[in-house]
Amino acid sequence: MTVLDGHSDLLYDVTRRRLAGETRVLERRHLDRLRRGGTEGLVLALWYGTGPHNETFWKDVPEAGSAAKRLSIMLDCARAELAECPWLAAVRTRKEAEAARAAGKLYAFLCIEGMEALEGPEDLAPLADLGLRMGMLTWNEENRFAAGAAQDPRKGLTDLGRRTVRRMEDLGVLPDASHLNEAGFWDLLDAAGGTVIASHSNCRRLCGVPRNLTDEQLRAIRDRGGIVGLNVYHGFVHTGPEGQTAEMLARHAAHMAEVMGAEHVACGFDFCEFMGPGNDGARGLEDCSGIPAFFRELERLGMSAREREGIARENLLRVLG
Ligand SMILES: [Zn+2]
Repeated sequence: MTVLDGHSDLLYDVTRRRLAGETRVLERRHLDRLRRGGTEGLVLALWYGTGPHNETFWKDVPEAGSAAKRLSIMLDCARAELAECPWLAAVRTRKEAEAARAAGKLYAFLCIEGMEALEGPEDLAPLADLGLRMGMLTWNEENRFAAGAAQDPRKGLTDLGRRTVRRMEDLGVLPDASHLNEAGFWDLLDAAGGTVIASHSNCRRLCGVPRNLTDEQLRAIRDRGGIVGLNVYHGFVHTGPEGQTAEMLARHAAHMAEVMGAEHVACGFDFCEFMGPGNDGARGLEDCSGIPAFFRELERLGMSAREREGIARENLLRVLG
């Protein structure tokens, strides 16, 4: 079984290392693990934000003074890196992804994680031209579009945020509710006319943190034809270390399947062990080479081969179209 990972932070590592003078970062540092874990495709996230987490390498880049500048640097690094990766195809559609797979290549879709680099909906078109397919208005911070998961849960989308969501839909960019706070989630559903996804969030019922979704939110995403992507980050799997395991993440998958139907469950693994301490995945999912162990846990919980295949790739590909 091979897997489409619906949320990957590899462009963070690519950008950081290319700015330090490295080349072929994905091939030299990541490809072996991706292949061992059975990754067939990735949704590469543009995460370039201004929050404290991102001060790590940006603070040493004098020309990266604004969010817009950071995004542009990251896009330049992504472009240069992809030019060095004949084994990785940038794709926009399911058809292109399947063609890349048939040719023995990995494939990559593009998403944006936080829109603070944008002034408004008019700035989306150039990103859509580059192949953007999924979009989050915020990371955990508050910006001109919305308030993120770490903010006052009563603050939702701004008018500009609502207009941006409608523009995303016009351009074929799926609105992504992961990282929004509670009010923002419902505002997003209200502003969007079509499918809404949550690319990398787990179940609040099993791990009560603001980045995870309530059963009511899971059902709302199901009702809009969307998917929710399972996240390996230890703190979203369980609040205590004893429960931060691949087996517990499989229980999140089983709970989602019970609430929404297995056809609305996907992978948004969010591996970021390469960002350093504190970013660990759950035990057994320390990096992407552990993915097969996770699918064995799903099998142990009684999921059929068809359900597992859906979670691994089919459900997200269906929504991306
Ligand atoms: Zn994220």
